[in-house]
Amino acid sequence: MAMVKSAVFGEHGESAASRERSARQSGPAAEPEVKVTYNYVVRESSQVRKAAEADFPTRWGHFRILGFEGKTADGTEEAVALVHGDIKNSTPLVRVHSQCLTGDVFGSLRCDCRQQLEMALEMIAGARSGVLIYEQKEGRGIGLMAKLKAYALQDQGMDTVQANEYLGFKADHRGFELPAQILVALGVKQVRLLSNNPEKVAAVEAAGVQVVERVPCEVEPQEHTQKYLKTKQEKLGHLLNKTAK
Ligand SMILES: [Zn+2]
Repeated sequence: MAMVKSAVFGEHGESAASRERSARQSGPAAEPEVKVTYNYVVRESSQVRKAAEADFPTRWGHFRILGFEGKTADGTEEAVALVHGDIKNSTPLVRVHSQCLTGDVFGSLRCDCRQQLEMALEMIAGARSGVLIYEQKEGRGIGLMAKLKAYALQDQGMDTVQANEYLGFKADHRGFELPAQILVALGVKQVRLLSNNPEKVAAVEAAGVQVVERVPCEVEPQEHTQKYLKTKQEKLGHLLNKTAK
């Protein structure tokens, strides 16, 4: 079933982030006026179904929030897509983020997930259009309890890849099928992908979405994330310029 959703919040398509910047410049009394144009069509398929859709203002800007259910090789999966701007008439800036309860919610310094999530939301809200897909793939797909077990092994000296493999998991347990299907369902054929991970670029392209540009999503390494980022760089092939080789 194809559905047209075109919620018009303003006539100039100005991004919420730039609107907020100008609101700050003109002083605290200015009540920000919402001026974001959304333009997309959701085409459901046998692999992906839209469960819900709603308006979604955030600290970074205005989005639409869409819930998707998908069928993949691992069974049924759920993911959320935050859509910003006119993704039909401009190449959207896209970030695929895997859920990290410890980082996203608790602000863990064992990883850079929350910083990357916030950076991505800020960049997407400031771009002409974009999509953030949030997958429920805790710990690169191994699940929350296994991730905590992996932390305990890391406390004894293993790195994140060794710990996952010791517990019987692949270093990275994600396939990215559902995010790619969601992009296809949203009618997105080309993206500017926010990622440091060449495998994500390959997975999105394998699903039929062209990556016209890879945009780095790199945070400054900190004391606690130094080793974690180095492992991502050396063992998972992530392209990180700010982490010492
Ligand atoms: Zn994390």
